[in-house]
Amino acid sequence: MIELSLAEYCLLMVISAFLLVTLFGWISRFAHYNAENRGKKRRFVCPLCLTTWENRSKAKIVDCPHCGRQCERAR
Ligand SMILES: [Zn+2]
Repeated sequence: MIELSLAEYCLLMVISAFLLVTLFGWISRFAHYNAENRGKKRRFVCPLCLTTWENRSKAKIVDCPHCGRQCERAR
């Protein structure tokens, strides 16, 4: 077995904790960024009556459910 002094053990713990926090932060930021982008593509705001709704279809132009105006998907 590898023998570690107390100082080496503490240093190892600090480094591994730092790496874990960095990795977790990076993963969570990446996940958040993806979720936001996906949400933006589904969200529509009608320019006429300002109704906001979500549409999961692939259509580029969607009719507003409130006033029927055609709205283009945001890029
Ligand atoms: Zn509308």
